[in-house]
Amino acid sequence: MNKRTRLTQAIKEQKTLEDRFFAVVVLVGLTIVTVSEIVTFIEDIGYIANIGTAIGALMLLIVVYEAYIRKRMEAARVMLCYAFNCVVIPITFFCCGGINSGMPLYMLAGIFTLVPVLKGRQRIICLLISFTMDIVCIGLAYYVVQNPDGFVASQLSFMPTLSEKSRYMDVVSSLLLISLFIIITTALIMDAYQKERASREELLLKLDDLSKRDALTGLYNRRELFLFLEKMPAGDAQYYLCMTDIDHFKNVNDTYGHVFGDVVLRTLAGILNEEVRSDAGELAARYGGEEFLIVVKAETKAQAIERVERIRQRFSGTKWEGHDELVTSFSGGMVCCGDVPNYTEAISRADKNLYKAKENGRNRLEI
Ligand code: GH3
Ligand code: MG
Ligand code: MG
Repeated sequence: MNKRTRLTQAIKEQKTLEDRFFAVVVLVGLTIVTVSEIVTFIEDIGYIANIGTAIGALMLLIVVYEAYIRKRMEAARVMLCYAFNCVVIPITFFCCGGINSGMPLYMLAGIFTLVPVLKGRQRIICLLISFTMDIVCIGLAYYVVQNPDGFVASQLSFMPTLSEKSRYMDVVSSLLLISLFIIITTALIMDAYQKERASREELLLKLDDLSKRDALTGLYNRRELFLFLEKMPAGDAQYYLCMTDIDHFKNVNDTYGHVFGDVVLRTLAGILNEEVRSDAGELAARYGGEEFLIVVKAETKAQAIERVERIRQRFSGTKWEGHDELVTSFSGGMVCCGDVPNYTEAISRADKNLYKAKENGRNRLEI
């Protein structure tokens, strides 16, 4: 598998925020129904309440089965939202205390949950249905099962009435659970957003650097070279431009192969990288195939020549592993930027000097 397919696969396999959010909702949902089951036992609200919360737990387990065992995530997401808002909440609303319990908080959590779990039209439809469901439950509690005490189901013999103490306990436990749920999910979203932002910034910096460099040698590419030259002050005598071209490079390729030719190019690039001080406003770039352009800063012509001579000598002195007989060299054409009106002229003159260096026997500089 090549690098690119591996990367695409890794991205696909990466847990998305939606997946993590879904897992948290299911986990918190299971915790809530378990705690509710315990609370309904402690509060002794009655078997109907226990059955109601048990149905809730069962529905969540079906969602877990669908998502993680049958691996049908999309279906599980939809099931989770409808199960929560249209089944679990209405049942528990009527079974566990109605409007005077912690149920309105659960209704809020149900609505809050479907926003990050569902997308697009599905989200809007589920939102409308869930809202309607909640309002119908509250309306039913008010209009159909009227009760002077305020509790919805006390007139229906099979439904429980919460005692004053239970009501307070229920509101406190619901508040705690729902707050915890909202805190965890919001923290999760913020954390994912920050990580996403940091990795995007890193990626942009990497891409920016890649767009400036030549893939083989890692030196600045032609585009970056011209941007540099455009910014360079015209006619500044402290800048020296040198165009270099490897001597008989075609022979190197023909004799030792193109892969070895690439090694030679990378080696020269390594030397240039070490000798050219980019932090001091100098530059080394790959101009073309085996042609490199160097910009050095020097007080005098002699100093500039000395700098490039050093590079030339290092390259011609390089020992090639397995090819003791091979001597590599380059020729260079130099020009002082103070002697030319602009960088186009500087390149043109450097090129002419390079031609002269080739004519005069190669492995030398002409200025
Ligand atoms: P001269 O001394 O006159 O410059 O002779 P030369 O053989 O170097 O002549 P020329 O400039 O025509 O040849 C350049 C060669 O550089 C031809 C091309 O195959 C080779 N080349 C250009 N880019 C690459 C590269 O990225 N990798 C390799 N291995 N070879 C390259
Ligand atoms: Mg050439
Ligand atoms: Mg050449």
